[in-house]
Amino acid sequence: MDKLNPNISADLPPIAERIGNFIGGAWENAEAESFEVINPATKEVLAALPKSSRETARRAVDAAVAAQNGWARTSVWERANLCAALGKAIEARASELARVLSMEQGKPIAEAEGEVGAAAHGFHMAAEMVRYATGEFVGGATEGRQVITRRFPRGVYAVITPWNYPVNIPIEYIAPGLATGNTIVWTPAPTTSLVAVALMRILADAGMPPGILNLVLGEGAVVGDEIVSSPKTNAIGFTGSTATGHRIAMRGAGKPMVLELGGNGPLIVRRDADLRRAAEAAAFGAFSNCGQICAATGRVLADAEIAEALAKEIVAIAERQRVGNPMHQGITMGPLNNANVARKVAEHVENAIGSGAKCLTGGRSIPELGSELFYAPTVLSHVTPWMKIAREETFGPVVPIIALSGDDEILQVANDTEYGLSMAIFTRDIERGLAMSSELSAGIVNINESTVFWETHMAFGGSSGTKSGLGRIGGRHAIEAMSEVRSVSIPFPNYNATGL
Ligand code: NAD
Repeated sequence: MDKLNPNISADLPPIAERIGNFIGGAWENAEAESFEVINPATKEVLAALPKSSRETARRAVDAAVAAQNGWARTSVWERANLCAALGKAIEARASELARVLSMEQGKPIAEAEGEVGAAAHGFHMAAEMVRYATGEFVGGATEGRQVITRRFPRGVYAVITPWNYPVNIPIEYIAPGLATGNTIVWTPAPTTSLVAVALMRILADAGMPPGILNLVLGEGAVVGDEIVSSPKTNAIGFTGSTATGHRIAMRGAGKPMVLELGGNGPLIVRRDADLRRAAEAAAFGAFSNCGQICAATGRVLADAEIAEALAKEIVAIAERQRVGNPMHQGITMGPLNNANVARKVAEHVENAIGSGAKCLTGGRSIPELGSELFYAPTVLSHVTPWMKIAREETFGPVVPIIALSGDDEILQVANDTEYGLSMAIFTRDIERGLAMSSELSAGIVNINESTVFWETHMAFGGSSGTKSGLGRIGGRHAIEAMSEVRSVSIPFPNYNATGL
């Protein structure tokens, strides 16, 4: 194929000439090898993209190094203005980006539009956050000497991102990273690399100084590893699986890093809960994005008294889902993104059923829809806490229901996990819910909301000591994570320059 499938040129008109890596402000496509990206709903090949070498990744790092000093010395207002312009550029071409996202990732077009909107908002938020960020004047103990605390960029960032939110997750690092004066080398997940190119093209067209953001396509173990381990990169922003995160932590040891990793979030339903709302939240957290969300409803921990009634409600919602080509109107669930995740989902469901779980609906792939990556919305009851589906991250459209007796057992099972990203509690007793939230080991606890509820300014990340990661992103937390504090002591005549 000639780089871009001509059938999709209506969706991506001018991209054909500019498809590939973006390094130092120029498009490149001269790699010896290439890889294909497919539409998971139709299996149609969308494009052939460069499988870049380590040498290419090194050139991208060099371009980011070359741009770093100049970019760091621009004023905060200049960087904020650029971020605002990039946000507007995404808004202006939102439908183009959403179509490529839906086509390549597999999420329904309405969800794709929502993701693109969040990405544009991410740039606007970074612009505002950095514009009004403040330093500190700290009172000193030594007469005639005071301390100013200032924030500086970390330098060159290695940013590596997954395929489940391939537009918004990169922006969670790129927007605050650029706003705080860093330059970036970004390697996206291979299966969603065309939408990375489409996004990069919009940003490049909006007039970024060359070298501040560089895109390198290819295998994570090659280009991702190169940028993480390069002595010329100063810091790492990674979102992806726990296994890769651990490898990256070792390869980039010593560098500051944010690691946003896996989850297996419990949605707790107490016997006093509004069951309809709990069921809606459980289904929303399991079927949105076909369940491919780090904060997805990994397991429902229901009080045994209401477990059966709750299961009925969730089954009714599962059976109302319209599964099909995500580009078609009215479709609520598209296919899984790739064969690896499809294999894992099938394995977890089969293992659960083989170990005594009951499949109330779904439980199979639906190849008759045109691709074996379609998987039916699935609800399992009689799941036990030690089944694989209850212990590992499934990342598919499955609601496993575990019936337990009372709060103490629920809390014990909720915390008996290697993960600690997002959890939810449904109860009419808000005081009790708040008390329970203190007992849970997670970065986010939502009361009477789904596990996936998050607003972009909220701190987001895994609980310490779990396999869900390290550090926080979101709003000012990302601005802080992607910059470093420097104490500058100065001679200052007053005894205490704070004025006190
Ligand atoms: P993955 O770990 O397989 O890949 C993530 C990225 O890492 C990809 O770009 C990949 O190319 C790259 N990569 C792979 N091997 C590498 C290596 N050796 N060195 C450097 N880079 C490498 O994850 P995935 O399957 O793309 O994404 C799904 C996972 O991401 C799930 O576990 C999910 O929970 C997690 N996730 C977490 C969050 C969060 O905020 N905590 C958000 C979204 C997804």
